[in-house]
Amino acid sequence: MDLGLSGKWAIVCASSKGLGRGCAEALAEEGVNLVITARTESTLNETAAFIRGKWDVEVKALTGDITTPEGRSDVLNACPNPDILVNNAGGPPPGDFQDWSTDDWMKALNANMLTPIELIKATVGGMRERKFGRIINITSAAVKAPIDILGLSNGARAGLTGFVAGIARKTVIDNVTINALLPGPFDTDRLKSNFETVAKSSGKPIEQLRKERAAGNPAGRFGTAEEFGAACAFLCSDKAGFITGQNLLLDGGAFPGTL
Ligand code: NAP
Repeated sequence: MDLGLSGKWAIVCASSKGLGRGCAEALAEEGVNLVITARTESTLNETAAFIRGKWDVEVKALTGDITTPEGRSDVLNACPNPDILVNNAGGPPPGDFQDWSTDDWMKALNANMLTPIELIKATVGGMRERKFGRIINITSAAVKAPIDILGLSNGARAGLTGFVAGIARKTVIDNVTINALLPGPFDTDRLKSNFETVAKSSGKPIEQLRKERAAGNPAGRFGTAEEFGAACAFLCSDKAGFITGQNLLLDGGAFPGTL
């Protein structure tokens, strides 16, 4: 299937590794030029070089923190008129809500709710004028099935989801869709750090936790960044203009059981 994306420009936030990188690579495979971002210059540049070497697309690699006004303005200056925006940032730390301060909550809300909203605000008007736009928010399976130790994530992502539910139904008249991808367990650094937290509190070895969790998934495994990216590329395609305001769960069928 030709996804009709060749020559378009995408901003893919937080994309030197993991799910963001999966989205960037899948879009590059479709001929989309990219702005990719991350805080660590070395890994970001390695990812940019890999993508440039593999696909015939332009890649601008911008080192910075996407959750800051400076990080966002750098990205928007590099690509003021993106056709595609993939919102992503690191997830908040796990823990017990009794230990969280207002500052912890503000950081989570800033990273996983307000940053995507700021970037949507800055780009959606141009997309509507040009009659094409695809916005993807990487959220979490926690939007459908909250995870107890990830309360900061549950709260911030639910807030973003509620906001988007309203505007996604306004922008679609101009062929601008806004959807969310909800990862269940994907084999990335983020999952590794969650296992480290559980290993500390439960005293179980990480490898045992990994095996048990994979075996407990109906697919018997974790998802891959490539699978995640493919779903992103389809939702960004010109074939997906009638899909908006959706929350697509990628979890191997775990929901509504334990994720
Ligand atoms: P990952 O493998 O740890 O990758 C995170 C990527 O984002 C890295 O490239 C990282 O690079 C970049 N990044 C993080 N914070 C950033 C910031 N403030 N500004 C710019 N770049 C930033 O994580 P992942 O598994 O892909 O997760 C992506 C998102 O999905 C997270 O919000 C996570 O909570 C959520 N999620 C993941 C899973 C899963 O199973 N993997 C499940 C549910 C939800 P630098 O560190 O160099 O900045």
